[in-house]
Amino acid sequence: MIIVLDRKATQEDIDRVAERVQAVGLRVHLSRGTERTVIGVIGDERQLDPEAIQVLPGVERVVRILHPFKLASREFKEAPTIIRLPDGTEIGGAKIVVMAGPCAVESEETLLETAKMVKAAGASVLRGGAFKPRTSPYSFQGLGEEGLRLLARAREVFGLPIITEVLSPQDVELVSQYADILQIGTRNMQNYSLLQAVGRSNKPVLLKRGMMSSIEEWLMSAEYILASGNHEVILCERGIRTFETYTRNTLDLSAVPIVKKLSHLPVIVDPSHGTGKWELVKPMSKGAIAAGADGLLIEVHPQPERALSDGPQSLRPEIFSEVMRELVPVARAVGREI
Ligand code: PEP
Ligand code: MN
Repeated sequence: MIIVLDRKATQEDIDRVAERVQAVGLRVHLSRGTERTVIGVIGDERQLDPEAIQVLPGVERVVRILHPFKLASREFKEAPTIIRLPDGTEIGGAKIVVMAGPCAVESEETLLETAKMVKAAGASVLRGGAFKPRTSPYSFQGLGEEGLRLLARAREVFGLPIITEVLSPQDVELVSQYADILQIGTRNMQNYSLLQAVGRSNKPVLLKRGMMSSIEEWLMSAEYILASGNHEVILCERGIRTFETYTRNTLDLSAVPIVKKLSHLPVIVDPSHGTGKWELVKPMSKGAIAAGADGLLIEVHPQPERALSDGPQSLRPEIFSEVMRELVPVARAVGREI
């Protein structure tokens, strides 16, 4: 439920409404706009009688949110959420944000080389996994904290903010000390204790869609993070499992306009995991921008044939530059810049 206050509502009116909400064990989320203040009610709102709130002084209207996700919904917040990174990069604004880099941080040399090239091509965030969620326990699991240190070094040298995955609640504090954005991978989209842990951190969270999750389940996972107090969530479509085996996953681009309509949160697309094939990254990147995505997450490796993970879907730096160039007119056609 959201409670829209009257333009003339006083602080006393706002406090009175908030007290009523809190008195039945619910929490309030206050958004002060330039025009008016809106109180979001967090928790099981069956405890609250909307009519008893409607009659309080200063209340203009009480709106019930019909979706099971509340804080993530457009009804709760009409204006798009724009997330600002420490260097001023904005996610969800007019400019398309491209996050690029290797699947995994492998060595200082390859990471710095990749960072240099993706930056030159126009990427604004460097990606790289230090803790890798591999299907096989015998595959390369990532460099752990050493990988985080290397990412921080790349940020120092090239000034690119960094995004990296966090796999477990006990690692959230450590990864937050290094990362500018915490990534929740597809396999952990419904790891609710991890979602709550990143919800208590003060870093933006990129939440990948579970490979077998519906759009509603994905938004409910975002709700866990928001309800834990972290309002900076970026949604990432990365493909879902279908009967198709030609591609690694089926990239659901229709999710982009659907989620943009249902939610105020920024949406980005990962065409690398979404297809599993480097040749498909360019066309699907164009499609994602045309569909309204706020950004892209792309795997780039200086020598994909030598990559320790996800080589077949990684772009060579020169192909990445080509993709970036060809995205310019697509972005322009839909009123965005890149
Ligand atoms: C990744 O970004 O490298 C990754 C493991 O992604 P996903 O969780 O989408 O498989
Ligand atoms: Mn990968």
